[in-house]
Amino acid sequence: MARDLSPKCKQCRREGRKLFLKGERCYTSKCALTRRKYPPGFHGPKGYPRQSEYSLELRQKQQLRRFYGILEAQLKNYFEKAKKQQGDIGENLLCLLEERLDNVVWRAGFAISRREARQLVNHGNILVNERRVDIPSYQVKVGDLVKVKPKQRIVKKVKQNIEKVLSLDERSKVSWLSLDKDNLEVKVLSQPKPEDLPKDFNLRLIVQFYSR
Ligand code: SF4
Repeated sequence: MARDLSPKCKQCRREGRKLFLKGERCYTSKCALTRRKYPPGFHGPKGYPRQSEYSLELRQKQQLRRFYGILEAQLKNYFEKAKKQQGDIGENLLCLLEERLDNVVWRAGFAISRREARQLVNHGNILVNERRVDIPSYQVKVGDLVKVKPKQRIVKKVKQNIEKVLSLDERSKVSWLSLDKDNLEVKVLSQPKPEDLPKDFNLRLIVQFYSR
């Protein structure tokens, strides 16, 4: 399955903002963006250049794509789907991305980073309604029950992750998911609500980019 293998910290430095792609390290002073807040490249610290309208749109689109760890063709497909739905295209797009199984696993805190969440799914350690689902892009539906496979090694790791995540950030505090951390399961209560969507993206610019 194709995925973006480019260096994670370079992606953050290119975008000039934290995308939290490396798990615990992102929350420490070892974060590359804290130490080197300039774009990657041969010519050293030159700062971020002034941006044209097109470049602003492109960067917002790239940030969204990198944040969710997906490829360009996948994001374009999500955009086309979002366009066909009723309501705001940008919000529809974010909802579709939030409903990916790897994102739900990340939000539940079963994994510290999205990359780890994707690996948990790929390796068949996640059950949806008691059935193994190993497709990270699987779209969860209202009423789905996502849980961790009862395998001793995995259960131990996931429990540690949940405790770490609860102390690191508030990703699991969304009203559309209900986490049962004792049983390592998360229930999808509704579709993502506007107040639960990430606020760090300029959706207008992303819609403009794909509408060109
Ligand atoms: Fe980005 Fe995390 Fe690397 Fe910091 S440590 S630059 S947030 S991937």
